[in-house]
Amino acid sequence: MAESTPNTATIDCNLLVAKALARAGVTHMFGVVGIPVTSLATRAVTLGIRFIAFHNEQSAGYAASAYGYLTGRPGVLLTVSGPGCVHGLAGLSNAAVNCWPTVMISGSCDQNDVGKGDFQELDQIAAVKPFVKFSVKAKNINEIPNCVFSVLDHAGSGRPGGCYLDIPSDVLHQTLTELEANKLLDDAEKNRYIEPVKSVSNDDIAKAISAIRKAERPLIVFGKGAAIARAENEIKDLVEKTGIPFLPTPMGKGLLPDTHELAATAARSLAIGKCDVAIVVGARLNWLLHFGEPPKWSKDVKFILIDVDEGEIEFRKPYLGLVGDAKKVLKVLNKEIKDDPFCLGRTHPWIEAITNKVKENVSRMEGQLAKEVVPFNFLTPMRIIRDAIIGLGSPAPILVSEGANTMDVGRSVLVQTEPRTRLDAGTWGTMGVGLGYCIAAAVASPDRLVVAVEGDSGFGFSAMEVETLVRYQLPVVVIVFNNGGVYGGDRRNPEDITGPYKDDPAPTSFVPGAAYHLLIEAFGGKGYLVGTPDELKSALTESFSARKPAVINVTIDPYAGAESGRMQHKN
Ligand code: ADP
Repeated sequence: MAESTPNTATIDCNLLVAKALARAGVTHMFGVVGIPVTSLATRAVTLGIRFIAFHNEQSAGYAASAYGYLTGRPGVLLTVSGPGCVHGLAGLSNAAVNCWPTVMISGSCDQNDVGKGDFQELDQIAAVKPFVKFSVKAKNINEIPNCVFSVLDHAGSGRPGGCYLDIPSDVLHQTLTELEANKLLDDAEKNRYIEPVKSVSNDDIAKAISAIRKAERPLIVFGKGAAIARAENEIKDLVEKTGIPFLPTPMGKGLLPDTHELAATAARSLAIGKCDVAIVVGARLNWLLHFGEPPKWSKDVKFILIDVDEGEIEFRKPYLGLVGDAKKVLKVLNKEIKDDPFCLGRTHPWIEAITNKVKENVSRMEGQLAKEVVPFNFLTPMRIIRDAIIGLGSPAPILVSEGANTMDVGRSVLVQTEPRTRLDAGTWGTMGVGLGYCIAAAVASPDRLVVAVEGDSGFGFSAMEVETLVRYQLPVVVIVFNNGGVYGGDRRNPEDITGPYKDDPAPTSFVPGAAYHLLIEAFGGKGYLVGTPDELKSALTESFSARKPAVINVTIDPYAGAESGRMQHKN
């Protein structure tokens, strides 16, 4: 950057990108630097943007996507060209499938060398295509401000998702004067894009209220879309005004506390199997909700879907679709119900049925959890972790969970009491998200502790990022359920173990007794190896109060749990 008078001083494209990001309100970026984007990252830091540098773009991309979900503002991922962009696709795809606002910015090869086999050459616009709502290549420095605002605006408005900005290395080396830069930034800021969303009609609100009033067994279901809309107060209002039981999806958990008296989570099969009207807020009727079809749901159930995406409603063809932001739609619905109030009350047969089933299932589960099983199964350590987390009170930690059995058991046992405090494998069932999510959660919500409960397989995808935890001194405790492999021990039939490689470890096996706790110690973090309830309790107490990076390596019986967790039918 040469200096003369402020307006005629020249600035380079790296600084212009950083200025545009800062102007658009970006405060954090995640990524891996290298040719040609190193200077872009350092310029961003100069302008007050925190750049969290990872070891692998895959984890950085997962972090950017989770940051987008937790804050409601696009998470930004920066990658180098070619292979860096390809690694970043993991994060971009995760953002696309989860509907999380995320922008990937990649450097790319010099435009004059395209087609000649340049360093890290790739048609990156073509590569990102399946995973983006919008993508653009900045062909000249003058296009940068508009491109930066456009990708951020497309990612964050309407149905959130992934967007991509490609900046060739020759463009990154171009310069202009500060005067020109400011004018371009001002012009771009005036033309910001907001995806239009239809407003919901009075007739549709009236139709929804009439269906809810007539329902004998209504149910409210809410998911990630309600979380990103920050609709927790409106959901609480609707639930408490009407007395309708509710069921959160895995990441909807916490929008209302799991301990709420109308929580139907512990009576899930009854609630979805018998409800006659389901108000589904910000959740797709996909595999996580059994496609809204029999045999899990009744064939006559009337779905009222509230979703910001009109296409989703057209695709599912529910009884009624209310297109719009969940918070806004629920506000209107609540207001109309207020003028015509009704509440099912505790003695309503449907509420009694749900409440009784919840009591029965909870008491059965508590019986299992009360047992002290050593060597550990999944339940005993999960109960100890649950109690330690509850003991922390508010602000509740953000819980990150992945793995097969570890995630399944954790979902039923761990208690969520505050909104957006659960991150897991999500709609795409992505394994390997754990460390990236932890880092995103820690920087997005610095007042909260972050606790990851993950299988050794999930942890292994991105275990090197424990160095990133230590480098930034993030308050993250990673608890690894170590059963020595994907699903644990070797479950093959002896007659299937044949052929020249029969003496190799099973495809599901890792080194038994792997010392994962020592990995973090290599970088100066704290590691614990635990195998008994007392050892686990003491490691949790110490690491939770230290609020420093730690890994607790929990030895689990390799034959506890099941292959594929609860998804055996898909394997
Ligand atoms: P879950 O996994 O919790 O079931 P999904 O990811 O399947 O949730 O669904 C989230 C839905 O929420 C998507 O269909 C998306 O279009 C929708 N959505 C996203 N943002 C909003 C919003 N602000 N208001 C309403 N719906 C939203």
